[in-house]
Amino acid sequence: MGNQYAYSDNLLDAFPDLEGRLASGRVVPYQVELHPAPSGRELCWLKCSHCYMQGDIDDAERVSGERLVDVIDDLSKGSPRTGERPKQLVISGFRTDPLNSASFVKIFRAAKERGFATGLHTKGLVLGEEAIRALAEESIQGDYMTFSVDAGDNSTYASVHDANGQSRLYNHVVENVRKLVESVRKRHSPLRIQATYLLTEENCGASVESFVKTFLDMGMDSLRFSVPILPTMAHQSRDSDFPSISDQALSGFKERFKGLSRRFGERLVYLRFEKRTRRTLPCYSRWLYPTVGFDGNLYPCCLTASKEFSAVRIADLKKEDFWGAYYRALPLDFTAADCQCDRKSEEVNLVLRQRMMSGSRAASSRVCKMMTESNYSSESSL
Ligand code: SF4
Repeated sequence: MGNQYAYSDNLLDAFPDLEGRLASGRVVPYQVELHPAPSGRELCWLKCSHCYMQGDIDDAERVSGERLVDVIDDLSKGSPRTGERPKQLVISGFRTDPLNSASFVKIFRAAKERGFATGLHTKGLVLGEEAIRALAEESIQGDYMTFSVDAGDNSTYASVHDANGQSRLYNHVVENVRKLVESVRKRHSPLRIQATYLLTEENCGASVESFVKTFLDMGMDSLRFSVPILPTMAHQSRDSDFPSISDQALSGFKERFKGLSRRFGERLVYLRFEKRTRRTLPCYSRWLYPTVGFDGNLYPCCLTASKEFSAVRIADLKKEDFWGAYYRALPLDFTAADCQCDRKSEEVNLVLRQRMMSGSRAASSRVCKMMTESNYSSESSL
């Protein structure tokens, strides 16, 4: 099946001598992800069964919008070792949605004023006029916005997000996206707008075609499909109740996808259809995709950005500047973290591991030394 999407291409193009940079400590992040915090104790009011964590009430501290703007300032000054800045910022959430934060527009504007290409990930349930105006008027080349939709009609949306009392949420999201697309096109904004669809047993039938038709008709730049990653959720087992897709349903979807991609071409893409990915070590994510969680701590990746993964927490950015924390020698306890990579991190960890293994023994051992002894602890070696 064509139309497959790969994360590692951009990264490896951006840093041709990545192994050398890792070994010499002159690496800079490819992207830094920021998770703006909601103000209340409740992180999210949906109860999606495919959520990475159980429990939406969380009394952990919250990072303020002002502090995230300070972090963006730090990043814009560039690495004290190389002078380079991250290639992009991502404003997203883990159990949270950035548009549920009252500081979203302030944070987005700070990224634009400092010239960062920025990716936004949201469910799109809250998208006010001020946010639409900022997105349409201030976006720059390289900016993108991804709506996580996962349904093609109201009843499927309510079922997938366990929001049965809310019967018109899908229509509401569609209307929000439509307003944004119209505003963006009217102003000839470079903002790319895309949507994602997590395939499970309950949404891989007719709902898919309805989603594709509605969203492509609205003028989306691309639609991306994937299957769920079973999370470890910091030792909470979810094997029994986590949504999945059967082989039969997946092959039915693949047939449908072939037909759809013939009609709509490269605007439809998919991430590798594996039912279960795994953690891949050594983990390079801390250096390449660090994330500031809603609690203001710096974590190695977006799927560990919550207090349940304190074993791999790097620093409290409510009290420290970004670059000092990023370069600090610090062993992280992956055995205690029991984390689960998202596809991006898994793919990048795998590609780098293979490159190290096929490279010279001396280069590999320099990177191993840097990652395992001085700055990183790992439960496997190259
Ligand atoms: S989930 Fe994967 S990328 Fe994230 S910290 Fe764990 S090993 Fe690294």
